[in-house]
Amino acid sequence: MSKPCIICVAITGSVPRKENNPAVPITVNEQVESTQEAFEAGASICHAHVRNDDQTPSSDPDKFARLKEGLEKHCPGMIIQFSTGGRSGAGRARGGMLPLKPDMASLSVGSNNFPTRVYENPPDLVDWLAGEMRTYGVKPEIEAFDLSHIHQAVAMNKDGRIPGKLYVQFVMGVKNAMPVDRDVFDYYVKTMERLAPEAEWCGAGIGRNQIALNEWSIAAGGHTRTGLEDNVRLDQDTLAPSNAALVRRAVELCEKYERPVATWMQARATLGLAMPE
Ligand SMILES: [Zn+2]
Repeated sequence: MSKPCIICVAITGSVPRKENNPAVPITVNEQVESTQEAFEAGASICHAHVRNDDQTPSSDPDKFARLKEGLEKHCPGMIIQFSTGGRSGAGRARGGMLPLKPDMASLSVGSNNFPTRVYENPPDLVDWLAGEMRTYGVKPEIEAFDLSHIHQAVAMNKDGRIPGKLYVQFVMGVKNAMPVDRDVFDYYVKTMERLAPEAEWCGAGIGRNQIALNEWSIAAGGHTRTGLEDNVRLDQDTLAPSNAALVRRAVELCEKYERPVATWMQARATLGLAMPE
């Protein structure tokens, strides 16, 4: 049997708003409800940001705490991953929720351009975030927006700054950063196999190319991410009715390529995460 595919659902993000798609969950209650439906559809990781009531991004640890509590109650076993991305806060505020000990947190290990700004990840901040994750036993998911980020992640894994099994996500399709490019994707996979054969990897495509990254990743034996954070549409003319609808699309691709969809237990075992108490 081929390796189970872990499906991550990125439920909210910092950018999409109700005006873009009314299904984007904004309040903690909406987030829990949307995640539960996605969990039941096959997602085993929830990647989450939190928002203020006016939909602007927040880094408020109290909101993250309420979200964690709701997810643990309604999605038992699901892997909870908080974002430390730079759109939700500045500097060390980005890691202010790590003492809550989510299972995982995203970690960017290098800088690049974003649609309207520089996504700044200076080495001292990266090391501080990685250190907080070690302190609180939070597993990083490395966000690779560029090839150099894969090399940096491997170096940090080898010197112990990122302990345990490395998990790298290739992010393609962010405007002004790495576009969705098949040759680059193949080279990312090859680089992972060469530098970190024990590691696991995942592919995430932004916007209309979400489905392409889902398909490439599933076909190539990796894991994949979907969700309204990255894309609010099913196709050019149709808004996605929910996060679960996007998860179901990834599940169908797993069926096409005869990849079983990882249960939360299989996902935890694959990533070296503890089973919940
Ligand atoms: Zn995110």
